[in-house]
This record gives sequence, C-alpha cells and structure tokens, in this order.
Amino acid sequence: MLQPGLMMDRPLLLSSVIEHAAAQYGDAEVVSRETHGPLFRYTYSECAARARKLANALAGLGLQGGDAVGSIAWNNHRHLEAYYAVSGSGMVMHTCNPRLHPQQLIYIINHAEDRVVLFDATFAPLVKGIAAHCPNVRTWVCLADAANTPAIEGVANVLAYEELIAPCSEDFTWPEFDEHTGAALCYTSGTTGNPKGALYSHRAIVLNAMSGCLPGVLSLSPAETILPVVPMFHINAWCIPYAAPIAGAKLVLPGPRLDGQSLYELMESEAVTVSAGVPTIWQALLGHVEQHGLRFSTMYRTAVGGSAMPQALIAKFMDTYGVEVRHGWGMTETTAVGTMGTLMPKAKNWTSEQKQALLAKQGKSTFGVEIKVVDEQGNTLPRDGTSQGELMVRGHWIMASYYKGERSPLVDGWFPTGDIATIDAEGVMQIRDRTKDVIKTGGEWISSIDLESAAVAHPAVAMAAVIGVKHPKWDERPLLFVVRKPGQTLSKEEILAFLAERVAKWWVPDDVIFLDALPVGGTGKVQKSDLRKQYGGVFS
Ligand code: ADP
Repeated sequence: MLQPGLMMDRPLLLSSVIEHAAAQYGDAEVVSRETHGPLFRYTYSECAARARKLANALAGLGLQGGDAVGSIAWNNHRHLEAYYAVSGSGMVMHTCNPRLHPQQLIYIINHAEDRVVLFDATFAPLVKGIAAHCPNVRTWVCLADAANTPAIEGVANVLAYEELIAPCSEDFTWPEFDEHTGAALCYTSGTTGNPKGALYSHRAIVLNAMSGCLPGVLSLSPAETILPVVPMFHINAWCIPYAAPIAGAKLVLPGPRLDGQSLYELMESEAVTVSAGVPTIWQALLGHVEQHGLRFSTMYRTAVGGSAMPQALIAKFMDTYGVEVRHGWGMTETTAVGTMGTLMPKAKNWTSEQKQALLAKQGKSTFGVEIKVVDEQGNTLPRDGTSQGELMVRGHWIMASYYKGERSPLVDGWFPTGDIATIDAEGVMQIRDRTKDVIKTGGEWISSIDLESAAVAHPAVAMAAVIGVKHPKWDERPLLFVVRKPGQTLSKEEILAFLAERVAKWWVPDDVIFLDALPVGGTGKVQKSDLRKQYGGVFS
C-alpha cells in the first residue's frame, strides 16, 4: 500500500505571495509610472497594506468570493494591488485587453460577469462607449486619485480608486480556500470568433511564478530589478507581477509609456537589470538606442516572446549591447511561460552566430510543462529537430477547458496549441509557424517566421511580415511586407536578391509591398489577419 506523505497541506494561494514579499522583502521597491505622468514608488510592504485596503473596499461594495472584477489597465501599482486584493479575496481578476474591439470587450465583460471594472483614465473614452452595454457592472473604478479621475458622461457610478480605499482598514484576513480556485481570467484575442476565457487557478499561477524565478527562466532574486513591458492586461504579464514578489526582486512598472525613449530612460533611471517584452517593443527600444548612440548601463538580460524574435535582433542585443536574450514561448492557455531558451554550458566555445541560432528557437519546456509534436493523425513525431507537426502541451499551468466552454479542447489529455513546431534530441523546441500563418504552396510548407527573420536581417529593414496569398497555380504564395528603417532606401529587387541568397528559391516571395508601418495589435503582435483582409487576393 502507498504511504501517505506526512507533510502539511497548505494551499498555494496568491495572498501568500504578497504577504511573503511584505514579510521577507518588505523594503524592496515597486516603482510605477502613473497614467498622468509622474513616477510613484513604494515598497512591497506598502503594496500589501494597500491590497488589504482594497480587499476591504471590494467587500464593502458587496462583492464576495467567486465574483469577477474586471480591469482595463496599464502596468502600474494600483493594478498590482488589484491582482492581489481580488484573487486573494477568492474573487476572479479578469484582465481585459483594451485593444480588443469594443464589441469584444463588451462580450468578455458580460461573459465573465464582472461586477466591478477597474480602469485607467486613458481608457475613459472606452468605458463611456461600453458601460451601457455591461449591465452587470455596478461600479467603474478609475485607478487614480480624485483629481485624475475624469467624469464620464452618461456613466454615473464612477469612483476614484484612492477615494474608495482611503477609509478602509489595512487589516484584512485573507480567506483560505482550495488552491484550485479560479484566481485570474484572461481571454484570447479572438481573431476568429468570440474570445475564449482561460481561468487560471491559484495553484497554476503560484507554480508558474515559482518556475519563472528559476535560473534557466527569468532568474529572479533580490539582486534583480525587473521591468515587465509585457502587459498586465494579457496573460498576467507572464506572471512577473507574482514572480518578482516571490523572489524579492525590485519591480518597475512602465504605465502607459511604452515607446523606446521612455522605456530606455526608465531602465537607466531605475537601474533595471532584467526586462521582458515582445519583439516589436524591443525593435522600437533598439531603434531609439541605436539612433542616439546609447548603451544599457545595467540591463544585462531580456526575456522575449509572444512572437518569434528574429535572429538579427538577438544578435544586436547580444553582440552590440551585451544583453543576454532569453527567448520563450507561451499562450493565453498556458498561464505564462511554457518554454524558455537559454545557453547550455557546452555553448561556451560556440561562435556568436551559433549561440544566436540556438536562441532564435523557443527553448526547452520548463519543469511542470511537457511538450510533444504530432502529425495530422495525432502520432508523436520524433525529436529530431526536423519533423514538424502541431505542438501539444500539458502540465500544471496548462488550461484544461475554456471558461464556460462546452467541449474540452484537449486531445488525449494534451492541449493542441495550433502552433507548428519541431523538437530536437535535446528537447529544444522551435516554432515554425502558426497553423493559420504557414504558407502552403504546391503541397509544401513555407514558414512565414523564417522568411520574416531573414528579411529583418537586412540592415535597411525595420520590420517585416509575410502572409500566404491565394495563387491560381500554387494554392498560396508568399507576399512580403517591409517597413524600411528611417532614411533608408531599399528596392523590391534588392530585398528579393538578399532573400534569394538565404532561403530556398521557391521560398522567395512573389512580391514585396513597402508600408510605413505594420498593423500591430494590443499585445504587440503584427496583425496578419488585417494584412490578409487587405492584400489576400493580390495574386488571383
Ligand atoms: P494571440 O496572439 O491570439 O493574442 P496569445 O497571446 O495567446 O494569442 O499568443 C499565443 C501565440 O503566440 C502562440 O500560440 C504562438 O503562435 C505565438 N508565440 C508566442 N511566443 C512565441 C515565440 N517566442 N515565437 C513564436 N511564436 C510565439
């Protein structure tokens, strides 16, 4: 007979994360950009006290365990307090992506049954447009003091956050409950159909956040200062707002200022050592740094993910600026990071190019997540680095079913990601494409990611995107979109000749369209659906 372990059964709850930070790293700093401009700073101990005040305030509004509280907000300290107050009270923190179409925002707020919605003043016009269509929302709380809370015409029940919490006590006894209880809810971007909700449990978030602290993942400790540019409104900012307090790391929140100059200045003034963001944000940051001949004086590591990081950008970070790149993969359904790339000791004597080629892949699954790739019949493909199929994942923080979803999306207990990937003999995974982005031409596949990475390697190219366009003979052919760097001239012939030297002949795009900017969505990803809508028929 199996022996029961004789350990205490303490639930993994998010309230314990902020209370741990308050007790053990009480004077570690949180620095936050206010929506109206100035920097605000306090400590984990003050953050915990204000989270308890907010928990009392929410109870005062009549909310109970199980109720949902929405947020439409930037990365800032009040949003952080809400992360803990809402989930810690047994309520569900529903982070809304403000860049969703207003109809989709209305849909998710109603679907989640949000009772209160917290919003930043930036999004007051959005609230004005949607409030009448969200009948369950009793109170709209602006994450500001009274002076910075705008009146919203037609919306009566708007409160200022600071006024709401001011009269409340700092004493609050966090309830204890099952660690499988829902803590946070995030909806997919819903490029096809309505957004779908992933309801993360306390257990999933705590385990993911602990894993995020590991040396092979974000490597957080009290010695680090981390700046998550990845938004708290999507996939929990990769769980950094939970991981940093666990590790006692200083946390820097950039608020609404996400341009290259503001981020660079914040990194320098707060002595940021580690950052996390999507490639488009890093492109803008490097653009600023390059243009002004700047250096990073403290930042030595950056985690990147959300879409593929081109090797040329990895090279620039590492070779020119001495910043180590950690390239990770995850999705709404995986709570945060599922895989992360880092160099093994044997890479010590590799050339820079070999190192960068490895880091352009999305890395190994972190402990707690298993990965495999399967063919169209569901057979597991060999880990040989070339057999490509759909990436399947399972683990402690992988979603089992969508919120209020009728049918489980799982296949034999694994979550099908919709990404096409390879895994090599050492377990290193590489995303080849999303199922919907891969270009199917004459019965073969072209990876849009590989073509984009090759194009971005051209010194005159700022950004590139490739889509498959319907073709009468080949089914689909690649069409390349290029944004030139400021002041650069680059012709179609030049970029195609550049690509012809780097990819197979039949991969070379049939045409190139130069744009001033690519359409970028709320999470910083290029919206290929918009490009397809506009240009999808150009070869027919
Ligand atoms: P959406 O992009 O629809 O908003 P998510 O934010 O959940 O949805 O994004 C998840 C998807 O982003 C993954 O399925 C994958 O296609 C892509 N992705 C995430 N990280 C990477 C990466 N490092 N490289 C390539 N693709 C990535």
